[in-house]
Amino acid sequence: MQLNEHAPAYRFGADVSGALKDEVIIMRYRICDMCGQPLEENTLRYEARIQVYAAYDPLEISFADLKGDFREELRRVAEACRDMSEEELMRQVFTELHLDLCPRCQQVYIRNPLPQLPDSQ
Ligand SMILES: [Zn+2]
Repeated sequence: MQLNEHAPAYRFGADVSGALKDEVIIMRYRICDMCGQPLEENTLRYEARIQVYAAYDPLEISFADLKGDFREELRRVAEACRDMSEEELMRQVFTELHLDLCPRCQQVYIRNPLPQLPDSQ
């Protein structure tokens, strides 16, 4: 997932005698988010970018709607959100996943992108 895109980064460097020197090389690597295998640089790998967001139907707002008193509605919404963190609230509206996949897992994933829920079997 997104978390392994930039981490970990290893730094190393050595001169011809093998002694460490100041020059560093930064290597980044990715792992397959399904099987955990390392995804070597310059080899075939896949990315799955998934956005899950709240869908809505277009609103039709009349002048009469705008004249209404919304304080009770706002109070109800504020009460429903009171014990939720900002992160939880945001996750209910929009979530984006970024998966790195090896070729084998890409084949598995595209055949079954929506696994069954555990209690629906
Ligand atoms: Zn894999």
